[in-house]
Amino acid sequence: MASANDLQPGAPLLEMSDVCVTYPGAASPALDNLSLSVQTGEFLTILGRSGSGKTTVLRAIAGLERVHHGQLSIGGRVVADPRTHVKPENRRVGMVFQDYALFPHLSVIDNVAFGVQDSGGSGRASIIRALEMVGLDGYEERYPHELSGGQQQRVALARSLAPDPVILLLDEPFSNLDRQLRGTLRRDVLDIVESNGTTAVLVTHDREEALGMADRIAIMEAGRVLQVGAPVDLYSNSTSSEVAQLIAPSNTVRGRIAGPYVDTEAGRFRYRSPQGPLGNGVFVDAVLRVHDLELGPWEGGGALRTVRYREYQGEFTEYGIELPSLRRIYVRRRSIAPLEIGTRVVITAPFDRPVLVYPEQP
Ligand code: ADP
Ligand code: MG
Repeated sequence: MASANDLQPGAPLLEMSDVCVTYPGAASPALDNLSLSVQTGEFLTILGRSGSGKTTVLRAIAGLERVHHGQLSIGGRVVADPRTHVKPENRRVGMVFQDYALFPHLSVIDNVAFGVQDSGGSGRASIIRALEMVGLDGYEERYPHELSGGQQQRVALARSLAPDPVILLLDEPFSNLDRQLRGTLRRDVLDIVESNGTTAVLVTHDREEALGMADRIAIMEAGRVLQVGAPVDLYSNSTSSEVAQLIAPSNTVRGRIAGPYVDTEAGRFRYRSPQGPLGNGVFVDAVLRVHDLELGPWEGGGALRTVRYREYQGEFTEYGIELPSLRRIYVRRRSIAPLEIGTRVVITAPFDRPVLVYPEQP
């Protein structure tokens, strides 16, 4: 790809520094001093709840929103700051929208041709190549309504790849597809992007998608990036309870440090503190991941923890356990030897695996 060739080695392909975007009339900024960089050839995912600003990040990169503060560069060139706004068509950015945004009155090939210069002449080859890449050669003359959701998404992908963008942006591209198709398309997109050497940013609220597709993952909340890193690092070394909760289904309970343990109303656990050593008696948020807990038999005495809810999911069963405060926490365990509603249990961490703790916010 022509794009990144003139870059210095190691320089990020995309760099956002302290970027602020505020929508007209909005009380708070949608992007609040957001910084993020993406290396050439990297697949970055952004994970965040609905409303955290994910779409706005992509729109700012694509040039669909103006940057009111900070700076955004692509390939070493500043494309947006408070005084600069390079037009979307001059940024060489491809975007796949959540709802595909195909033109219903245009055939597949005309949809893909949209945005390719000289699509009848020299651009023709790139259109054909894009359709081949997504496995839709032979569908050129079909119309969007004659295609399945997965095929429509492939057309959208081909359309964004045909002009040979330097960076591909994907906005929750699988959210309208059923679970099984989502998995298939996820792997296909990774293959296509990888074989094409495309740099990509995918935003999603789906943690499996974010973890499974990423070289690096950025966690977003309230217009800011909370943490960036390799999926494994973020999972095992979440630097805040917000990140820990977003990256794995978990329960957060209040706890107090006692020697090598943290005492909570769910039980006593070994702990690990990513923010550094903690003294005895310190109050913390303990993050109990639903996959990392086990339920054992109650042996009399102690606090009351009772199975109140049970949802069979085949291989696993999810249990809702009522704690002494009447609050419920959730535990996922293999479906063998199911526990009845009303059973009193002990909650443990198998192999004494430590739970993550974070000093309680004042
Ligand atoms: P996400 O994609 O993570 O769900 P968005 O980037 O769409 O989040 O939105 C971030 C914030 O900006 C939200 O609070 C949302 O309500 C607000 N917002 C998004 N688009 C607009 C708009 N066109 N006008 C005003 N506010 C908007
Ligand atoms: Mg969105």
